[in-house]
Amino acid sequence: MQQGLRVELQRIILLALALAIAGFFNGYQTLTMLLGGGLYMAWTLLKIFRLYSWLNAGGLGAPPDATGVWGDISDQLYRLQKRNTRARSDLRALVKRVRKITAALDEGLIILDEERTVDWWNPAASRLLGLRSEDLHQPITNLLRAPTFVQFIQCGDFEYPLELSAPNEPQRLLQFSARVFGDNEIALVIMDITRLRQLEEMRKEFVGNISHELRTPLTVLTGYIETLLDQDMQELPAAWPKALRQMSQQTERMNLLAEDLVMLSRLETTTLPLKVPVNLEQLFEPIIDNARALSGDKHNIQFSACHQPLLEGDAKELHSALSNLVYNAVKHNPQGCDIDIAIKRDANALSVSVSDTGLGIDPIHIPRLTERFYRADSSRATQSGGTGLGLAIVKHVLLRHNGELTIKSTLGKGATFTCRFAQS
Ligand code: ADP
Repeated sequence: MQQGLRVELQRIILLALALAIAGFFNGYQTLTMLLGGGLYMAWTLLKIFRLYSWLNAGGLGAPPDATGVWGDISDQLYRLQKRNTRARSDLRALVKRVRKITAALDEGLIILDEERTVDWWNPAASRLLGLRSEDLHQPITNLLRAPTFVQFIQCGDFEYPLELSAPNEPQRLLQFSARVFGDNEIALVIMDITRLRQLEEMRKEFVGNISHELRTPLTVLTGYIETLLDQDMQELPAAWPKALRQMSQQTERMNLLAEDLVMLSRLETTTLPLKVPVNLEQLFEPIIDNARALSGDKHNIQFSACHQPLLEGDAKELHSALSNLVYNAVKHNPQGCDIDIAIKRDANALSVSVSDTGLGIDPIHIPRLTERFYRADSSRATQSGGTGLGLAIVKHVLLRHNGELTIKSTLGKGATFTCRFAQS
């Protein structure tokens, strides 16, 4: 039992005893008890009154002097009050610190409430979007009216960020990322990505230009090497034939690399040419002939297609992407394995799958296969003579054709590459 309560009980028992004895001697037992009880109650009320006054004054300073239960209650209230004050000042310091941190950020931060009105923003947000104090509690879509932004906020799918020109500076490019938190509130992060995009454009231009520029010297080199290889080898010094053959192989590789880089750069920097219906069955005919030639008829290549497999797109790009998948199945797998090409249609999409029963790919490599120059097995891939850019080209072509690439594979059992083209 609490100390204060024990003291209080002892006090009541002693008082009752004293009153009983006094009543016994003065002959007015009930009156004495009533008088004593009344005095005790008046004393208790006085304690309560003091406690109230202390609480009403905000509980500042030491609590009123008291013993027993009231002493305990005052002490506990005092401790609670002190803890509260400390927590409040910690919280205030934390809020100040968070404000300083958000003020130091280069990224804009806006908090939107459940109604998507602006609840708070940091200085960077007002710098990037020109927000003023009158904009507080305004719907964000009244402040940023671009249709893509309105749709971004309304549909609530924030998996991918949105890129948009700054409202008052069209040459400045902003990226909006959003996360839902708390009671359906939104934290909107705004980044100025103008410089990043400029650098990316410079990188694309540089790669495009350099690959383009490499083509001319490579063509000259290839021409001379071929001419020399056509010479009577007996007339050449002994070390030359081997060196010439290696030079020929390497220039061929460099040619392929330059071509793939030019293709990738074009895919990144241009918009898709006018889409026309492409018959995939016809598109695959030369691909399969070339694949058989590449394989030396050592792989068992099968082809099947649904009726009239037409796809809206650019035939050259589709040829490049789909041929890469088929040639990969030949290049990266041993003779004798089956390669199955199938075109199927369902209610929403046309899909093209290239499956093989070859060596397969370790699943840890699959998420990175479409990165430039990424190879699952570098020693095997270098021997196969690939550029390491094939699947990156496939990814870009599919992006431009509303398509999606999925790769499934079990090591030792083969791989399936499926291109699914959404159709309305
Ligand atoms: P590469 O020019 O090396 O073929 P890609 O980008 O086309 O470059 O392919 C990337 C890597 O994916 C290849 O190096 C190879 O390791 C792996 N790969 C692609 N297709 C297959 C396949 N059908 N079977 C096994 N590995 C494959």
